Amino acid sequence: MSVPSYWREMPQRYRLEAARCLNCGKISFPPRKICPSCKERSFETVQLEREGKLLTFTIIRVAPSVFTDQVPYAIGIVELKQNVRILCQIVDCRLDEIKSGMPVSIEFRRVSEDGEAGVIHYGYKAVPKDH
Ligand SMILES: [Zn+2]
Repeated sequence: MSVPSYWREMPQRYRLEAARCLNCGKISFPPRKICPSCKERSFETVQLEREGKLLTFTIIRVAPSVFTDQVPYAIGIVELKQNVRILCQIVDCRLDEIKSGMPVSIEFRRVSEDGEAGVIHYGYKAVPKDH
């Protein structure tokens, strides 16, 4: 039985793999082909830490149509230990519990489902740690 490609790609995405530039050491996530700092094209794969802190966030009350059933929700910028920043939704807590600087961990979750086609989209979400 053949495995759909999105399942095969999942473990890689789930492990939070990023690319570290072999010239200047900058970590790009998602991985890129050319380093944004020094234009180098050689990278090594590194695994990002799941733990980070919420730098800043915003509450979305008017959303693009596919997300209207989810408003209001919060999105924020999470800084991981390797100085990598990820923009993602903050889940599993009340909106009034969200604070800048709070520790969060990054999880790979289902984001949305495309109606009848049944296509499920996945993405990273930030989950408060002491919750
Ligand atoms: Zn570089």
